[in-house]
Amino acid sequence: MIIGVPKEIKTLENRVAATPGAVASLVRRGHTVLVENGAGIGSGCTDDEYIAAGAKMVDAATAWSAEMVYKVKEPIASEYKYLRPDLILFTYLHLAADRPQTDALLAGGTTGIAYETVQLANGALPLLTPMSEVAGRMATQEGAKYLEKPMGGRGVLLGGVPGVPPAEVVVLGGGVVGLNAAKMAMGLGASVTLLDISHGRLQYIDDVFGGRIKTITSTEPNIRDWVKKADLVIGAVLIPGAKAPHLITREMLSTMKEGSVIVDVAVDQGGCVETIKPTTHDHPTYVVDGVVHYGVANMPGAVPRTSTFALCNQTLPYAIALADKGVNALRHDRALALGLNTYKGKLTCPAVGEAFGLPS
Ligand code: NAD
Repeated sequence: MIIGVPKEIKTLENRVAATPGAVASLVRRGHTVLVENGAGIGSGCTDDEYIAAGAKMVDAATAWSAEMVYKVKEPIASEYKYLRPDLILFTYLHLAADRPQTDALLAGGTTGIAYETVQLANGALPLLTPMSEVAGRMATQEGAKYLEKPMGGRGVLLGGVPGVPPAEVVVLGGGVVGLNAAKMAMGLGASVTLLDISHGRLQYIDDVFGGRIKTITSTEPNIRDWVKKADLVIGAVLIPGAKAPHLITREMLSTMKEGSVIVDVAVDQGGCVETIKPTTHDHPTYVVDGVVHYGVANMPGAVPRTSTFALCNQTLPYAIALADKGVNALRHDRALALGLNTYKGKLTCPAVGEAFGLPS
């Protein structure tokens, strides 16, 4: 198959779908890979590395003329002209939040396979997990940074030093983001408390960390209690398909320490803090009631090199299956089949159909 890897042109997007290693794997299987000139630069992958891996370097239109386009972000308006019936598009689509793109994919008759709806039998979302891992680990790093006095924080070192206690880190939600955040905080020597509503999740974390991460059932009084003590709060709750609940209310905020920091990773689902609003890497923080708020909605974008390799590790087996078998790959893999959002001008993802009141 001919596979195109265009350069991502969405603002501040520096990831690329295929690393040179991924290109080599596809080429070894007899496929032709067309990589747009400079596509990997933002992730530190040079054109020479792609050429050495067997790619042909091309312009955007040629990359998009391939049988399958392997991307990171959804097509933006200037790319809609490339959508056509004999194209398989494998990328993040997030259609439920984007009617113009949905209409463009349907009008183009394109086979749209969305990373975010590929789902394993146990309910896991394998192509979202790597970005949650990155965001969770980064949340602690950012929290540590904004706790520094010159960054607006209360001037507390996460790990403390001998004779001076470490910072109190409180993590709301113990899923992929929360566990990765808690692990990093523990590694830096902080005192870490994690709250979740899932007892199974708390049992798992208690077992794995031998009590070094305190586990607390997420109830209103417990949250109120721990937020008061916290130097750093990390928001990491998710109720699948719903807006995040506001676990920290405006009123609770006033009980927090001056200069404490909230990193609300769940901001992309509305946030679990009443006072959070989405921010950008250019201006990541603002202060309410003396508490520093960090609400960047695309945290992995700041570490494109790590994010590109993490994402490609997970997407590549599916990309190989699609390259080898075309759309027939969906018949062989139920998880991949759930990724199908648009096919021959029809919506094939019920959640997207519901969002727009369209048949699916
Ligand atoms: P996940 O499903 O793995 O974990 C969510 C956890 O929240 C679960 O363990 C669940 O039991 C828990 N939970 C639900 N309600 C709760 C409550 N009331 N109190 C405490 N815990 C509760 O999800 P995840 O992959 O960890 O993602 C978490 C959030 O981070 C999502 O909103 C996701 O979209 C977001 N995210 C943001 C970025 C970013 O750049 N900002 C990047 C990746 C993920």
